[in-house]
Amino acid sequence: MPPRTAVFFHAHPDDEALLTAGTMAMLAAEGHRVVLVVATAGERGLADIQPGEALGETRLKELYKSAAVLGCARVECLGYGDSGLSPKGGVAEERPDNAFIDADTEEAAKRLADILQEERADLLAIYDPAGGYGHPDHVQVHRVGRRAAEIAGTEIVLEATVNRDPLVRLLKLAGRFYRFPPEFDVRTFESAYSPGEAITHRVNVRRYARQKRASMAAHVSQASGGDTDRTLAVMLKVPGPLYRLVFGTEWYVRRDLPPGARLTHPFGQWPE
Ligand SMILES: [Zn+2]
Repeated sequence: MPPRTAVFFHAHPDDEALLTAGTMAMLAAEGHRVVLVVATAGERGLADIQPGEALGETRLKELYKSAAVLGCARVECLGYGDSGLSPKGGVAEERPDNAFIDADTEEAAKRLADILQEERADLLAIYDPAGGYGHPDHVQVHRVGRRAAEIAGTEIVLEATVNRDPLVRLLKLAGRFYRFPPEFDVRTFESAYSPGEAITHRVNVRRYARQKRASMAAHVSQASGGDTDRTLAVMLKVPGPLYRLVFGTEWYVRRDLPPGARLTHPFGQWPE
């Protein structure tokens, strides 16, 4: 396979570690050019440091470290404000003027498309329409990413997701012996991420588990602390037990493939 270029578009530093790190490490190891773009510096993330500019700087440094581990050739931050998340999980009422969620889709897409064109990208990875677990910035990544690929004429668009079927099964099972906080509703996961039948790509990244773990470890500001709120927030992102269970697979949906398409490589052709 001749070397190709893949751009991974994420909302915040650390999203790449959770969803696509194994695929990125695999592509880089195969000799492809891997570019990581984040919309925001994640300055309103959970951390011991107060949210704000200093946290954004810390998180960008963590992002560079993660990108280096994964073999990324280039890292860009579009510089939008982290929209944050309301305690109930929706759009935060108080947010910065340049919040990504308030950005004009067309303008943001144009900025990402400039990078896609500059890189002559063959592939763009974004999120599913649900934005995974529904963070408003992640939904915006889907919208902006779709449009950017259209503008730039990027051939392959992959929506990074999680197979929600085992996720829901596991959460229901966990609910029998673990009392979730009242605001935690397992049913919300029935519409989060993607159903197994919609998934077109199951990428085996077990060989890159070391890089994936190192990528996660690079985001130290997001990993510390053990209070209930934070544990809940982390669980809402990716439940730990499930994460360990499925550490070796990353999932994508490519919408221009016919139903029933099943691929194992981001650049794979269907039928194989
Ligand atoms: Zn995020």
